[in-house]
Amino acid sequence: MNFADFSLDPRLNAAVDAVGFETPTPIQEQAIPLVLAGRDVLGLAQTGTGKTAAFALPILQRLTTGPLRKVRVLVVAPTRELAEQIHQTFGDLGQNLKVTSTPIYGGVSKRPQLAALRRGVEIVVACPGRLLDHIGEGDIDLSNVEVLVLDEADRMCDMGFLPDIRRILKHLPSQRQTLFFSATMPDDIRTLSAEILNNPATVQIGMIAPAETVSHAIYPITDKLKNKLLLEMLKQTATGRVLVFTRTKRRARNLALLLSNEGYNSTALQGNMAQNRRQASIDGFRDGKFDILVATDIASRGIDVTEISHVINFDIPDTVDAYTHRIGRTGRAEQSGDAFTFVTDTDEPMVRDIEKVLGEPLERRRLPDFDYGDFVPERQTAIAQAQQNGTGSSRNRRGGRNPVVNSDRSPRSGGGVNRGSRKSWSGGPRQQRSPGTRRSG
Ligand code: AMP
Repeated sequence: MNFADFSLDPRLNAAVDAVGFETPTPIQEQAIPLVLAGRDVLGLAQTGTGKTAAFALPILQRLTTGPLRKVRVLVVAPTRELAEQIHQTFGDLGQNLKVTSTPIYGGVSKRPQLAALRRGVEIVVACPGRLLDHIGEGDIDLSNVEVLVLDEADRMCDMGFLPDIRRILKHLPSQRQTLFFSATMPDDIRTLSAEILNNPATVQIGMIAPAETVSHAIYPITDKLKNKLLLEMLKQTATGRVLVFTRTKRRARNLALLLSNEGYNSTALQGNMAQNRRQASIDGFRDGKFDILVATDIASRGIDVTEISHVINFDIPDTVDAYTHRIGRTGRAEQSGDAFTFVTDTDEPMVRDIEKVLGEPLERRRLPDFDYGDFVPERQTAIAQAQQNGTGSSRNRRGGRNPVVNSDRSPRSGGGVNRGSRKSWSGGPRQQRSPGTRRSG
């Protein structure tokens, strides 16, 4: 199948060519015809599948006819970064149309948003809080909304936005098309989707398993040795752009500072930073000014930076879903990438949960030529495996004898942008540094 099969407006096909998409991704193949036909859609898809274009293209097709300068499309997203990214996708794909979109989120001045709304826009991509502010102040008329998109609904729920969403819904016409995207379906998301979708078509793409182009490995370590391990790993590994995840904002800030002091071009992305500094970090990472971005989960949502060669989980995430989202940052759009996770003994239950979803064990590695001191990674592995087999003092929260074998999800149901062959999992990091990650001097 190719994009021409959707019979989109030639100006949209030209934009698709201009952004370099050659063939539709699986979610685009499935969702675009449904959205064009006016159906409500429940999209179970993670980031990295091409879901933004899957809704943006048919929405832009709709906007090729009908009135201009009225808000006809409302997209609600959990974070500013994701809202920016969606806004940019509308801009890229709508580059040959007269249609305009505006992002609306907090942490920045309201004035430019107000000016855009007064000039008249067709598409608003908003985070819930600031949108409600504008609604409350009578700045925005949502009575002409024809299409509502809720993106990353599960994340909005995690972030406590559900009451806000319900408030926003009250301001929308009940006659509309609704597109609802979520990577997972916890109960309250299922309830919400049932309430607001009208006879929806369900599109499910690679719901949980991370992109197939990513090779995963874990490095048993202690908390104290993590900084040193990271520095040694960066020294030994041929890396391009590296995204490092930490559990807390403070750790992200401190680690980015440490890396800068060690001569790496690095920056942080965490929720305590003002919006303009966050955007400068993302832009700098995208443009190559920074080789290493140290981020927390929430701040990193929706970072659309291609060619990330390595995701390093300095701290293991709290949920399998967060692991999937982090890993979704690498191996995107015809790239392949490595995902390294530092694991302390208390992280082992989470490792088992991740392995269960992946459907296979994560390769455990020891970094060659690294001074582990008294710590023996193989001992942590042996204890973890004994616990898993029920021969140690069990910390297995699931109680399963072998979560890998008992996997109840189809491993890698596929559907990522690139479904090329997986990289080999053998071998440690490569031994030379690429020109990609360079020290600044
Ligand atoms: P998304 O899941 O919307 O965040 O998209 C993930 C990445 O895939 C983005 O960098 C898109 O630009 C890219 N992408 C989307 N559709 C395609 C396509 N048909 N071919 C190649 N890359 C794509």
